[in-house]
Amino acid sequence: MSKEKTVRHVCGISGGKDSAALAIYLKQQGRVPEMEYYFSDTGCELPETYDFIDRLEAYLGKKIDRIGSEAPFEHHLFMVGGMLPSPKQRWCTVKMKLEPFEKFVGTDEVMSYVAIRADEHREGYISTKPNIHPVFPFIHDEITRKDVFRILDETIGVPEYYKWRSRSGCYFCFFQRQEEWLGLYDNHPDLFNKAMELEKFNPNTGEGYSWIEGMSLSQLLERRKEIVDLATKRRKDEDGRSWQEILLEEGEPDDQGCLVCSL
Ligand code: SF4
Repeated sequence: MSKEKTVRHVCGISGGKDSAALAIYLKQQGRVPEMEYYFSDTGCELPETYDFIDRLEAYLGKKIDRIGSEAPFEHHLFMVGGMLPSPKQRWCTVKMKLEPFEKFVGTDEVMSYVAIRADEHREGYISTKPNIHPVFPFIHDEITRKDVFRILDETIGVPEYYKWRSRSGCYFCFFQRQEEWLGLYDNHPDLFNKAMELEKFNPNTGEGYSWIEGMSLSQLLERRKEIVDLATKRRKDEDGRSWQEILLEEGEPDDQGCLVCSL
């Protein structure tokens, strides 16, 4: 007698606001009690992200599986000859997020709950594997950015990194702006130094690998005043609002990069 295959329901938590709000929303609605939560931990996330995941886990009252790559980032970096990941060479997302997810799912039939909102037009990672079926509750229920902030305000709050950074992801993520790199330097100098040590860049020839195209992190520090002045001017133009307020009123920055990592 053949046994009927069970469909799994999974919800990926990135450390960003939308996926956390989706998990909370579905719990509050009493939908999908058998939901499995997972977090693709690169091992290089911000301390604020780990705190946020812990807070969410406590609220959900259910374990969030940490399903990162078996090998650390440094191993993958070695395997690609020290070539730092970049927008054009995004091996980090494949090795540290997508492959662990597809291994977690295996060949099971899976409904994958994705936190894309009703007020945005972007795509998260949607697997092409035939056994993974995406579900979009926020789009279906017309949940927008304002609802997401309300859900978080009423429960676990927003991630602390919003004080100095616009999105979750690895501490060295190449999608961050120059002022956010300075925020990393101010808030986590040890992590900034680690990122600096991974660079192999010749400032005279411009050859090698740096996190910011054409500029090493030590050069970034030398240009600190100029970068801060520019960012301050932009803040003034934006009425001195924090990232949280900008995100709430206007949405994600145009240079929104890693949707797998920051949804
Ligand atoms: S957060 Fe950035 S560095 Fe980390 S895996 Fe995603 S794209 Fe790569």
